Amino acid sequence: MKRVLITGGAGFLGSHLCDRFIKEGYHVIAMDNLITGNIANIEHLFKLGQFEFYNHDVTKFVHVAGPLDYILHFASPASPIDYLKIPIQTLKVGSLGTHNILGLARAKKARVLVASTSEVYGDPQVHPQGEDYWGHVNPVGPRGCYDEAKRFQEAITMAYHTYHGLETRIVRIFNTYGPRMRLDDGRVLPAFIGQALRGEDLTVFGDGSQTRSFCYVSDLVDGIYRLLLSDYPYPVNVGNPSEITIKQFGDEIIKLTGTRQKMVHKPLPQDDPKQRQPDITKAREILGWEPKISREEGLRITYEFFKKQLGQ
Ligand code: UDP
Repeated sequence: MKRVLITGGAGFLGSHLCDRFIKEGYHVIAMDNLITGNIANIEHLFKLGQFEFYNHDVTKFVHVAGPLDYILHFASPASPIDYLKIPIQTLKVGSLGTHNILGLARAKKARVLVASTSEVYGDPQVHPQGEDYWGHVNPVGPRGCYDEAKRFQEAITMAYHTYHGLETRIVRIFNTYGPRMRLDDGRVLPAFIGQALRGEDLTVFGDGSQTRSFCYVSDLVDGIYRLLLSDYPYPVNVGNPSEITIKQFGDEIIKLTGTRQKMVHKPLPQDDPKQRQPDITKAREILGWEPKISREEGLRITYEFFKKQLGQ
């Protein structure tokens, strides 16, 4: 049985990755310090002999007994509200944490995949964003702690690849949604759905003309799985190119939830990217991957999850 370590394994993406690797027949070791992760996301796996959980902070020396074939480094706060609250931990997990994980991968002769982000492109001046675009990031702005940690993460991962010959994979993840997102993580989707369910107005930041492209979680996980098993060591965008303004997104949530509330405008946060859409040519060509779940279908599933969470 192949053995995989998933850091951030109790988080939104990490827990869905645990599910996928369990389903594929791997022995899965999830590691998380539960700062933003939630044990409830992986509770259903504890009864399985092929699953283990380590409550550990990857910025401290990481020890895992026995062999490892693969490591997926997904530990990090990832929503603007979280990394504004814990900027130092965010910088540490992307830098020191990644260094520990790369050292562990070397010691175990394991292949490592690191979770990077569309935030490496910052507030992009190129549209859509292809992997060869270097980005437009403000290092000292509110998003700097996340964006620069992830940029450092990519750099040190490439250095381990070129200098030590480590097998590395880098996924640049665009906005992703689905069950197990936290209702209070401040992201636009849980914010809007939570507001609709509580009978509050939907808070649109700025005039709502900024765009995002939302990918359903199972599509993302499939892209990551394919990238890990590919032989491509450089960054690959994984996301859904279907782009929408935040105002249109608000309209879709109002329709989906049937709420009678309206949209109200709040100030646009500093350095909020104006537009974002992945160019997924590489993922199509190298991984034979593209998203399958439409926003309509993905939002319906996610809405049911949040309704259950709020006991409605
Ligand atoms: N946003 C919004 N209302 C909210 C939360 C977010 O209008 O209650 C906007 C936010 O300004 C951004 C977009 O929605 O332009 C996506 O924000 P999110 O935090 O989900 O992700 P990110 O900015 O990291 O893509």
